[in-house]
Amino acid sequence: MSAPLVIAVDGPAAAGKGTLARRLAAHLGLPYLDTGLLYRATGRRVLDAGGDPADPAAAEAAARALAPEDLARPDLRAEEAAAAASKVAAIPAVRAALLDFQRRFGAARGAVLDGRDIGTVVFPDAPVKLFVTASPEVRAARRHAELLARGVPARLEEVAAEMAERDARDSARGVAPLRPAEDALILDTSALDAEAAFAAALALVESARARGDSTGS
Ligand code: C5P
Repeated sequence: MSAPLVIAVDGPAAAGKGTLARRLAAHLGLPYLDTGLLYRATGRRVLDAGGDPADPAAAEAAARALAPEDLARPDLRAEEAAAAASKVAAIPAVRAALLDFQRRFGAARGAVLDGRDIGTVVFPDAPVKLFVTASPEVRAARRHAELLARGVPARLEEVAAEMAERDARDSARGVAPLRPAEDALILDTSALDAEAAFAAALALVESARARGDSTGS
């Protein structure tokens, strides 16, 4: 029997990977995991306890104590949780603590997982890897519009600065830095709306699966 299908969707903040990954999962009948939530919930737990998300001991303890209800919190989408997430995410023991859960999730029935290191670390053998990106200006404008639509007041310059800071931290860290896997297919969504991005992603997934089938992998 062939291994369950795992699709890795990585990329920087607000590139559109969450929307894409969720739609691909629904279309292909696969479970979906937003791995950013694991890091956001870990960061949030540290903040709630009055700790510093950059403190390795506090962050590792929070990651090990994560419970399903932590992932359902409505405040994980806020910028405060995002900034804390990218701090706990630079700590090797936190990444190690969250790795097993992600691997078990994908191995059970196959899955689409989105994050930063799915194709490089979590599932380096995934048969389909997408790296979804867009220009910093487009990503900041999207995140800004998203916040306003949710009724969260935000200034474009501040959103752009916070995003640049988070991307820089995610790319510069020593463990599982944000970068495309060597065999990832790059999808730049700068000039694409959600519909066009989905059509392009689906075409890439289907060509990757066809190539995999013909090489027997
Ligand atoms: O994807 P999202 O914006 O929710 O991720 C929040 C933060 O969690 C990222 O900026 C990154 O630091 C971290 N993260 C990670 N590895 C993943 C997913 C998220 O380091 N697989």
